[in-house]
Amino acid sequence: MRHFGGQRQDDGSNQQMQRSRTSPPGQVSRLDRQRVLALARPEWRTLSLATLALLVAAAGSLSAPTLAGRLVDSVSEGGRATLDRTALLLLGVFAVSGLASAFRSYLFRVAGERIVARLRGDLYAAVMQQEIAFFDKRRTGELINRLASDTTVLQNVVTVNLLTALRFSLQGLGAIAILLWTSWELTLVMLAVVPLVAIIAGVYGRLLRRGSKDVQDALARTSEVAEETLAGIRTVRAFARESTEVQRYRDAIEKSFQLARHRAKLVAVFTGVMSFAGFAALAAVLWYGAVLLSQGALGFGELTSFLLYTFTVAFSIAALSGLWSEFARAAGASERVFELLDRQPQLNNSGDCLQDLQGNLEFDDVVFAYPARPDAPVLTGCNLHLSPGSVVALVGPSGGGKSTVAALLCRLYDPQQGRLLLDGHPYPQLDASWLRKQVGIVSQEPILFATSVRDNIRYGRLDATDDEVATAAQAANAHQFVSAFPESYETRVGERGVRLSGGQKQRIAIARALLKDPTILVLDEATSALDTESEHLVQEALERLMVGRTTLVIAHRLSTVKDADRVIVLDRGRIVESGTHDELIAHQGLYRRLVERQFQI
Ligand code: ADP
Ligand code: MG
Repeated sequence: MRHFGGQRQDDGSNQQMQRSRTSPPGQVSRLDRQRVLALARPEWRTLSLATLALLVAAAGSLSAPTLAGRLVDSVSEGGRATLDRTALLLLGVFAVSGLASAFRSYLFRVAGERIVARLRGDLYAAVMQQEIAFFDKRRTGELINRLASDTTVLQNVVTVNLLTALRFSLQGLGAIAILLWTSWELTLVMLAVVPLVAIIAGVYGRLLRRGSKDVQDALARTSEVAEETLAGIRTVRAFARESTEVQRYRDAIEKSFQLARHRAKLVAVFTGVMSFAGFAALAAVLWYGAVLLSQGALGFGELTSFLLYTFTVAFSIAALSGLWSEFARAAGASERVFELLDRQPQLNNSGDCLQDLQGNLEFDDVVFAYPARPDAPVLTGCNLHLSPGSVVALVGPSGGGKSTVAALLCRLYDPQQGRLLLDGHPYPQLDASWLRKQVGIVSQEPILFATSVRDNIRYGRLDATDDEVATAAQAANAHQFVSAFPESYETRVGERGVRLSGGQKQRIAIARALLKDPTILVLDEATSALDTESEHLVQEALERLMVGRTTLVIAHRLSTVKDADRVIVLDRGRIVESGTHDELIAHQGLYRRLVERQFQI
């Protein structure tokens, strides 16, 4: 039961459950902000330099209004020379802060890109190490969406948005400090809008964060639909279902559009209110400043710089409020990213590698149900023994669990009860990657990658030489048809191998398995999808592959079964008969019925 104990944290398919598990928005975002900042830690050198540049640029922008005020004053007080000097000084300040801005922008962006590149890599690595049951429950589109879209949202946060937030907080606070120093009364008038702004921003952030997560989720749904139908385009076309699928995609897009529109409304209202608050503060300053001016308490120059600083504050508030929505969006995205990043695979991978493997395999009272369907046990107490070098044929009605036996043998899943033993060692004590290297599977529908024939064969052993690849192809009856292609071994096979026939794909898969050279071999109805002629070629190749290996043949042909050392019959999750072909025929049981009704002779 050990590996299935963690049901709590699995499965994103049930939205309701997930939503109710989510803690209150404020809490989530605080947690995630820490994580986001932790991501930035390795880039601290670049970020410190960038912050330095930011400080220089901010000092430049903050000193400008003072200088402008002095410029206005020198009209009445100083001479032309003062005027020119002040203007030149102003120009110099702008030049320095322009240069600093360029550095700041470059350094922040580069650091951000680095951080996100690393995050993407880590996320992909985390996905790759998940157990197969995880992939049974997720859809490819959703995972791709997390890698592409959610990380992009995060990228914006750690780059542009973080930078902008820092910059405007600094400028805004700096301007307020200078304003207080110039005229605290006027500043208080201006700051009267702040409590209003703070309250609105708080409420709004909460609303928006929820809305943004919904939009991202809806977007993930649309990727799922697209991925599924594009991958299955042949089926879609064969059933002339293009328009249905287009409609399904449109519906999914429409849903995300509706949510995005709702978010747009929120953003619009917030933007309007914030812009009003900014201008209201400006109007208040103008009014009260004029009053002070008429009383002679404030000079023209002071009022000018005061107004310019107020603009700075207003701009900063406006920019920060715009960012607020970006951060809210990122909180939703980061929740999804970190959830995936933190997920522990529920199947331990580490353990021993055995020396001198014999290939003695045992199933000991194995009980198994797929984690995606825990209530429907597939194996209900399966005992099985493969002695080294023997060929065992596994037969049984369709859906009886034969391929499941093969999957357990590769340790794609762990059984809930009972054990699998290799040379007497229980599976969980063995290194899972090592174990999978010892087991080769040739299944009914081989999956090739969209590279060349050579690369597909070499997938069995990455360091194989071209000669070894060709030898394996020869043994697999593949060399002849491959060399007939104009590009020979460099021929691209297309996505999943669509540019090859079924028999050709199967022979490439056999060459791949030959290169891998496994001690234990599983043939899962490897020839059942083929026509008679290619079946013959494949069968021949398989027989070469089987030599000297412990082999489990899941068979659909009587001739294969007859040649096996032993035949076992699997029905409803149990081994119901076991013996040689002749013994089982004499027994008059399920095997005999299967032979009479089902097998191709
Ligand atoms: P067969 O003997 O035809 O190879 P399988 O081992 O493929 O049978 O399937 C046995 C049962 O397990 C079937 O009822 C099938 O629906 C179910 N099953 C197969 N794969 C999965 C999976 N990934 N998730 C859930 N159920 C599965
Ligand atoms: Mg099967």
